[in-house]
Amino acid sequence: MREDYQRVYAKINLDAVMENTAHMKANISKETKIMAVIKTDGYGHGAVPIASELENADHIYGFATATAEEALILRKAGIKKPILILGYTFPYSYERLIEEDVRMTVFREDTLKELSEVATKLQEKGNDRTAKIHIKVDTGMSRIGVRPDGEGLAFVKKALSEKGVEVEGIFTHFARADESDKSPAYAQLAGFTEFLLRIEKETGHRIPVRHCSNSAGIVEIPEANLDVVRAGIILYGLWPSDEVSQNIIPLKPVLSLYSHVIYVKEINKGDSVSYGGTYTADGPVKVATIPVGYGDGYPRGLSGKGYVLIHGKRAPVLGRICMDQFMVDVSGIDGVKEGDLVTMVGKDGANEITIEELSKLSGGFNYELACNLGKRIPRVYIKSGKVLCTKDYYRDF
Ligand SMILES: *Cc1c(COP(=O)(O)O)cnc(C)c1O
Repeated sequence: MREDYQRVYAKINLDAVMENTAHMKANISKETKIMAVIKTDGYGHGAVPIASELENADHIYGFATATAEEALILRKAGIKKPILILGYTFPYSYERLIEEDVRMTVFREDTLKELSEVATKLQEKGNDRTAKIHIKVDTGMSRIGVRPDGEGLAFVKKALSEKGVEVEGIFTHFARADESDKSPAYAQLAGFTEFLLRIEKETGHRIPVRHCSNSAGIVEIPEANLDVVRAGIILYGLWPSDEVSQNIIPLKPVLSLYSHVIYVKEINKGDSVSYGGTYTADGPVKVATIPVGYGDGYPRGLSGKGYVLIHGKRAPVLGRICMDQFMVDVSGIDGVKEGDLVTMVGKDGANEITIEELSKLSGGFNYELACNLGKRIPRVYIKSGKVLCTKDYYRDF
């Protein structure tokens, strides 16, 4: 690896992203397409290289982000497929988003009105774009969305008649699809599909892009394959929860994380390691220092609990993780020396550390651990076994 990436780097396997989506596609209906959810910079993996990789795949409908900025960065990178902002979008960005043909999620009347005004003004200036929207329906999250009731129906009718606004899609979101008891998810799905029927019956209009499923639904709720499914965590080869079966869709983790040993020494009985002296040696211990810490997003919750792989063997974390460094016990591993490769996430020999395992050890959550991998970690993108490109926040600015 590049000398300047020896401190730490994340390897992002783009082939694994493609394989994961192909396996998903094989598990859903023929007519259903996949919306790749790449919010929070692709769950920490890097949204632009992943979208560029997926852009030309037939089974990919388009992309979903959480914010306007995340959507615009994709357009700037040349992504042409549909992009949907899943959250509330603030009015300052409506004009840019309409010009860039970015779809917005809408559930408030004031948004409808403002989008209509902005789109109409753009049309008067000779721009033929409409504001494409997906209506959000709240069937159980109580987060955003109109309720699937009479008021919700009135909202949909209003949206359908709003000048300059095109209702391209309608969707809802599961709150509990990742649990083994699927009855709350099925109740949400039933509420949503009934609402869709009612809309069709009362307006004579079928909203073309209807979607409901997230990762857990893609794996385990085939009935929720509508026109599109929204794949987040499974794109990255990570699991929505322990309760979701790992035998239905084979997934490969996309990210691995590496560093190198920068110091090796022996400590003696009674010597403590790191802040607070939470670990004290009860005999001679060989300690290796690793130049990565919670400032990189490596969880402090792994203090005294995590481990890394060196020479394919497990080296447990000693004492607290610092902001920029931590120490591991290499007493049981032969010949560890400065410069040796450290695997923090990924495979080394017969052993593997997953993000799921680290999040469990640290008392955290796999989604959060991936999202929190910080800007100090350069990302190296691998395609067909070769480095395709790198993303290095400190170099790019
Ligand atoms: C984040 C998000 C998803 C993706 O969820 P996963 O569990 O990662 O698949 C899908 N839909 C909405 C509305 C989301 O906010």
